[in-house]
Amino acid sequence: MTTNKKTQIPAFFDPGSSRPVGVVPLCSAAVFTLILILQFFPHGFKLFFDTSILVAGPPVSHRASTFSPSARVAQDPPVCESPPPFPTTPPVSKPLAMALAEEARAVVRQFDYSDENVNKGVKEFLRQLDEGLHKDGTSLSQIPTYVTAVPNGTEKGLYLAVDLGGTNFRVCSINLNGDSTFKLTYSKVAIPKELMVAKTSEELFSFLAKQIEDFLKTHHFHHYETHVRRRNTVSSPTGYKDEHVFRLGFTFSFPVKQVGINKGTLIRWTKGFDIPDTVGKDVCALLQTEIDKLHLPVKVAALVNDTVGTLMARSYAAPGKTGAVLGAIFGTGTNGAYVEKLSNIKKPLEGEFDDTTGDMVINTEWGSFDNQLNVLPTTPWDVQLDKESPNPGFQMFEKRVSGMFLGEIVRLAILDMMQNDKISFFKDENSSFNDWRSTTNIGKHSGLFRQWGLDSSILSVAAADANPELGTLRQQLESQLEVYSPSLEDAQAFKAIASAVGRRAARLSAVAIAAIVLQTGGLDKPGDEPIDIGVDGSLVEHYPSFRDMIYEAFRIIDGVGEEGAKRIRIGIAKDGSGVGAALIALVAAKMEQHNPFANHQLHNPPTIA
Ligand code: ADP
Ligand code: MG
Repeated sequence: MTTNKKTQIPAFFDPGSSRPVGVVPLCSAAVFTLILILQFFPHGFKLFFDTSILVAGPPVSHRASTFSPSARVAQDPPVCESPPPFPTTPPVSKPLAMALAEEARAVVRQFDYSDENVNKGVKEFLRQLDEGLHKDGTSLSQIPTYVTAVPNGTEKGLYLAVDLGGTNFRVCSINLNGDSTFKLTYSKVAIPKELMVAKTSEELFSFLAKQIEDFLKTHHFHHYETHVRRRNTVSSPTGYKDEHVFRLGFTFSFPVKQVGINKGTLIRWTKGFDIPDTVGKDVCALLQTEIDKLHLPVKVAALVNDTVGTLMARSYAAPGKTGAVLGAIFGTGTNGAYVEKLSNIKKPLEGEFDDTTGDMVINTEWGSFDNQLNVLPTTPWDVQLDKESPNPGFQMFEKRVSGMFLGEIVRLAILDMMQNDKISFFKDENSSFNDWRSTTNIGKHSGLFRQWGLDSSILSVAAADANPELGTLRQQLESQLEVYSPSLEDAQAFKAIASAVGRRAARLSAVAIAAIVLQTGGLDKPGDEPIDIGVDGSLVEHYPSFRDMIYEAFRIIDGVGEEGAKRIRIGIAKDGSGVGAALIALVAAKMEQHNPFANHQLHNPPTIA
């Protein structure tokens, strides 16, 4: 860590056998049934008959040639066979299956993001990065963080950290051991949807403070109780000492104008939040006020963007002495913060900072890269998603990359296919069309029919299910989306589309990461020193091969290539935001110590046991 020369703000951091579909040969007992069908369900017979012709006629595809001879029975009067002719293997195809597969391929092609376009994307990303370093109001906000160095792994102490990410609220305590290791205790709660659009900031922030109180009572009861006892026994508020107060790093992953280490006003809500009353207010003060109402021994010491926290955490934990160059998030949203040379930052820096390192961490807010759509790949479903979103025209990169949106893109593409009567998707006329011998049906409350109703996590299930039967994915379609008894073809189509959307997202992620690696010039330096990148978020952590697809793209990017790709080391910054926030809270606490005018003076450095 560097010393603070000017201080105030710190220095740091998807079978074809098949017995023909629908041609279940009939035994004598069934002839009676057939007569009944003819009498009462002529339409049903027509379907049955048409279908049989469809699959038993002259081969129209490679699959027709694999039909068993019994397939032709339907064209002649039904004949009973002996022994009983029940199929030994269940049918796995259905009418219009080939049309479905073809349509799925056409949809998948629309999500192709060619090598050539990836390279165009990188060039444009570099251009927009630079533009944001020159002036405000550009697509990449390029927000200066006033953090001018990254940690080296020797930092020590016990800190609290909270993380308001978009989907969950996490509270944790972190014990930094000073040897690149740490001990972390944490709890996580989903943010109630109604609080994301609460009428007042107080509703949201009082909920957050209550979670902190519950955490302290559960995991640091002794400390909490001691504090309460002291409060009750000491008459003067100055009677209890500041060293007993937990320093808390507040990871707040929304665009903020940071004006101090623990001060920052909300620029705009993103990721489905909308509480107009918060915009323009200091989010640290809002949290501190609610903490104080509960009389908790906690001081909000640092305001931390999750990307900056991830960068810090990777720098603390990564092997080797050099820090990470980029911290990136692929969770509900996506964003990145990187170490830029001060000399490249041409727009005015209003806050005070230590300039001795010659660097400053910049929060790119890359979710809004190319809002003007100069180079971003765009399908009709991207257009629809954007139009129906609360912020049309904004966060256009994020709307193609992050967890909050990938499921919705897949949902819109699938809904369109379901409405196409030339194909049969998630519907079959009767159970014999379905290898599960059950008719596909969709619950009327299925998320497929609701905006944001398809959680991106099913994309990971689709990508991970390598079994030819796609059993896991089909079960998930039932449990998550109320799609009961989907056929194999349905699941194959779903998997193909989900994978295409996931792959495009990974290649777009590679564009952002590669552009920043090129911007920071690390690959220009001779040698084989790795270029460290910390990443965090459920998408990059859980989507199978997300990182492999990023590396595949790196290899075709001009200026990176095979050799460059080998030097880039992307590591999950496990619990990154918590550790990162703790590291910044540590810096903040040290600053308080050095600054005699700080309103909370420390008698000792924070050493809560
Ligand atoms: P936050 O953004 O709140 O920090 P996460 O990093 O956990 O939280 O990201 C949550 C987002 O990731 C949600 O949009 C969710 O749909 C998505 N998600 C969760 N699990 C998975 C998964 N296994 N695969 C892909 N996306 C996932
Ligand atoms: Mg997060």
